[in-house]
Amino acid sequence: MTIATANRLKKLQPSPTMAMNAKARALEAKGIKILSLSVGEPDFDTPAHICKAAIKAINEGFTRYTAAEGIAPLKAAILDKFKRDNQLSYTSAEIIVSSGAKQALANALCALLNPGDEVLIPAPYWVSYPDMAILGEGTPQFIYADRAQNFKITAEQLEAAITPRTRVFTINSPNNPTGMIYSAEELKALAVVLLRHPNIIILSDDIYEHLIWSGLPFANLPMVFPELKDRTVIINGVSKSYAMTGWRIGYAAGPVEIINQMKNIQSQTTSCPNSIAQMAALAAISGPQDNIALMNKEFKARHDFLVKALSALPGVECIPAQGAFYLLPDFSGWLKQHPEIGNDEALAETLLTEIHIATVAGTPFGAPNCIRLSFASSMATLEEAMRRLEGFVKK
Ligand code: PMP
Ligand code: GLU
Repeated sequence: MTIATANRLKKLQPSPTMAMNAKARALEAKGIKILSLSVGEPDFDTPAHICKAAIKAINEGFTRYTAAEGIAPLKAAILDKFKRDNQLSYTSAEIIVSSGAKQALANALCALLNPGDEVLIPAPYWVSYPDMAILGEGTPQFIYADRAQNFKITAEQLEAAITPRTRVFTINSPNNPTGMIYSAEELKALAVVLLRHPNIIILSDDIYEHLIWSGLPFANLPMVFPELKDRTVIINGVSKSYAMTGWRIGYAAGPVEIINQMKNIQSQTTSCPNSIAQMAALAAISGPQDNIALMNKEFKARHDFLVKALSALPGVECIPAQGAFYLLPDFSGWLKQHPEIGNDEALAETLLTEIHIATVAGTPFGAPNCIRLSFASSMATLEEAMRRLEGFVKK
């Protein structure tokens, strides 16, 4: 007997980043050493003062359910963070803590979409946005930005993509998978278009806000255009800035109507974010921030090494990034010369099985012929990976 599952899930795919990570782990379990350039998680340890706060929480018995939307002191620290880093004022009712930015994003879309509503997603995009839209019974619509435009969409492209069914516009800067950052000027141009379409809700995914090692300033739409604050949901979290991917704490700030529905979804599905991890996140957000500068120094060195090494490969084009810890080299030229490989998905598979490097194909990010590399791996790993990759592409 085959068991039927919900029609809604027919188009849902497993996350390709998580799937590649699982494949690499399975090979490692067989004793094969894999160089991991696939999953986007800092290779640094969670800073000691954050771990200590978690241990203290356990020792003090802070081990029970919390309020669905997160504990009051953490929400207060998040309010301070928005004032400190973004000059944005919220009330506690406009903040929710979730089990990762991923849960906050999925819940925000679930709270907003009706069947057939369109979600505008600039491409290249993080793999999970389209599937989250599908899970909310919405329809993902892509706006493609190629390498020639530094992987960033223009105001004209945004205007052309909007239809009467457009409900949500997503924006992610610094971007996964391109590492590109929208300047305040570029955001203002997009804001002018969005002002003409008052029914569109903006989902600003700021998870890489602090991982900017290029000296460029961070901005988001409500920072450059305060009129948009009333219809923007900002998503952020501690995973990337504080090397806390496994702790699973993210948060959102936005209009009370949306946050309340996200709260309801949480209270009915997960009850609340992990109590111990919330105490750790409180220490992360309100404590010393110097670990971020140390990580950024290292990310810059790795980025500069990789761009140079990738640009020297025949048939590979790689433009420098500005933040986050990803590069998106384009293998179009190389793939044309190697029809036996076929496409980027087969290439990523071959790199894993033949030279034991885990990467992620560009296609699920809306970037065919590209490969996404995460440089959240040690310099030694990256150097060895580039040696192997050079040998492979020149073979
Ligand atoms: N947004 C983007 C763009 C990401 O790359 C990630 C990485 N996982 C997330 C959101 C989710 O982060 P988390 O759930 O770990 O907070
Ligand atoms: N966002 C990271 C990545 O893109 C972590 C994995 C995931 O949640 O997709 O690799």
